[in-house]
Amino acid sequence: MDLNTVTVLRPTADPSEWQPGDAWLAGGTVLFSYDSSTLKRLLDITHAGWPPLTINERGLEIAATCTIAELYAFTHEAWPAVALFQQCADSFVASFKIWNMSTVGGNIATALPAGPMTSLTAALEGTAVVLSPDGSERTLPVADLVIGDGATSLREGELLRAIRLPAAALQSRTAFRRLSLSNLGRSGVLLIGRTTTLGGLVITVTASTTRPVQLRFSSAPTQDELAQSLDGAIPTDLYHNDIHGLPQWRRDMTYRLAEEIRLELRT
Ligand SMILES: Cc1cc2nc3c(=O)[nH]c(=O)nc-3n(C[C@H](O)[C@H](O)[C@H](O)COP(=O)(O)OP(=O)(O)OC[C@H]3O[C@@H](n4cnc5c(N)ncnc54)[C@H](O)[C@@H]3O)c2cc1C
Repeated sequence: MDLNTVTVLRPTADPSEWQPGDAWLAGGTVLFSYDSSTLKRLLDITHAGWPPLTINERGLEIAATCTIAELYAFTHEAWPAVALFQQCADSFVASFKIWNMSTVGGNIATALPAGPMTSLTAALEGTAVVLSPDGSERTLPVADLVIGDGATSLREGELLRAIRLPAAALQSRTAFRRLSLSNLGRSGVLLIGRTTTLGGLVITVTASTTRPVQLRFSSAPTQDELAQSLDGAIPTDLYHNDIHGLPQWRRDMTYRLAEEIRLELRT
């Protein structure tokens, strides 16, 4: 779609250049899908030169500009949780354009409940690295960055630079469950479980809820404990309601898939 109010396309990843009416441009698959009467400049971060995936002593850093195709191709023998990269990438209703152009950061910043990069990075305890227009940098859990349907805790002009995944999470056993109302439909429910080093379990609920919800157990929960934890963590109005699934269905499937994950990861 033409963005008729945009007059400047500027290659920069420097938040100090941010002005009202600007938008960060990554893959553009969302930005060029909607009309806008307010956008004046697009600040193109795709030429920032950030390495897409960097292994370091703490784990893995995924640049915000890493494409879905680059993430999909990543492998690492010592990190079984990397299997989630392909499972989550496959959760896109992905055309060639989405696969090769859209970015991890763009998906998280868009903050759709069915954002599979939010599911992936929240489930693996991802920390978002955020650059601010005043030159400062802050970090926060991805699970706290996406706060609602299309809503993030990013402030005006802030740029998501990278997501850091800790090695401990990448080493964990994981279980993935996803449901959609149709074969090639958008995710209506997407749950990821992972074991912790101390014998615990973390289940991350996305797509069925408007924002990520995490359940943490210090040891393997019973079926009742899991259900009670879901009762307490997800009030009825947190279940998402749109054409991709009614809240009651999303709730029922959340309980079902969480139980499947509990059984699969029980040792
Ligand atoms: C056919 C089709 C199917 C789709 N299916 C899905 C789906 O299943 N699930 C889903 O979640 N989405 C889906 N989308 C929406 C979209 O393609 C994805 O969310 C995509 O990952 C967005 O990434 P992008 O790099 O193209 O973002 P862009 O379009 O470049 O940017 C999106 C928004 O994020 C902001 N932004 C981008 N990067 C950053 C950054 N580093 N820091 C701060 N802000 C930033 C932009 O300013 C803009 O507001 C679909 C789209 C299409 C056309």
